[in-house]
Amino acid sequence: MADRNHARVIDGAAIAAGIRRRVAAQTAELARRAGVVPGLTVVLVGNNPASEIYVRTKLRHAVEAGIRSRDVRLPAEITQAALLDHIASLNADPAVDGVLVQMPLPPHIDADAITAAIDPQRDVDGFHPLNAGYLVAGWPTLTPCTPLGCIILLRAALGDLAGLNALVLGRSNIVGKPMALLLLRESCTVTIAHSRSRDLPALCRRADIVVAAIGRPEFVRGAWLKPGATIIDVGINRIEREGKRRIVGDVAFAEAVEVAGAITPVPGGVGPMTIACLLENTLHAACRRRGIALPGSSDSSPLGERVG
Ligand code: NAP
Repeated sequence: MADRNHARVIDGAAIAAGIRRRVAAQTAELARRAGVVPGLTVVLVGNNPASEIYVRTKLRHAVEAGIRSRDVRLPAEITQAALLDHIASLNADPAVDGVLVQMPLPPHIDADAITAAIDPQRDVDGFHPLNAGYLVAGWPTLTPCTPLGCIILLRAALGDLAGLNALVLGRSNIVGKPMALLLLRESCTVTIAHSRSRDLPALCRRADIVVAAIGRPEFVRGAWLKPGATIIDVGINRIEREGKRRIVGDVAFAEAVEVAGAITPVPGGVGPMTIACLLENTLHAACRRRGIALPGSSDSSPLGERVG
């Protein structure tokens, strides 16, 4: 009987820990050399339990990396005008290099208006339309953390990505669209699929790289995948199975691992990379806004100055 395939499991937690260590070293160097301590402020509106955990984790890692960090907690019933005032005061604070408003926001608040109100130079989530436009143009910019983390994982797993067929499942502004642009920047041949796409299994079968970001538990089946493909699972889905609460991705991991060449686990894959890239973006924002070079590097963006 032939040996069963077992994909290499891409250790996002370990790669993220390496990035956090590097950012901590660069932050310490920035303080020594220029007397600058990067500052990150996370705004949390209401008390969504998942958001509370995300914010706590982001702030803990930021503090460990030497970033001056704080949260601004605002009641769920805050008006949009009052929230905009808070953002304006953060935009004007010289000690604040990064502003992040944790999503989702309560339904009475226009999330797009809030995203657009953040100073693009302090937009460490990379969601501001100006930064999104820079990304489309291929200019250096603050890049959305999750897709940036996915590219770093893909490079770690595959090296050069040029010429590979990449399929992005999902077309949100925070994951799918920027992911597709970053893959294009790596010279992949990129397909974007969404809820209206036809025959997802056939699209998957052609793909050397699948990035799944749809928010549907274990939706992508092992039988859909091209043998040897690299699978990046962005999904975070809370489910209950056999009476236990679990977090699973958008890919049926147990099936996919028998077909793929490499795959990220959930948890422990993309999630830790998102936070590591947030710290990276905060350090970059602090340097760029002051016109100082990033310590220990000639790059001014996490992906370097390369455009395309
Ligand atoms: P989103 O805004 O809800 O977008 C989901 C996308 O998936 C949409 O483009 C949607 O298509 C598409 N989609 C939904 N059902 C589909 C189906 N059956 N077939 C094909 N496409 C389908 O979600 P998001 O914010 O991008 O997040 C996606 C997932 O990633 C979620 O599980 C989220 O929790 C997770 N996430 C993880 C991290 C991390 O750090 N690991 C960060 C961000 C998000 P339409 O556009 O046609 O509706």
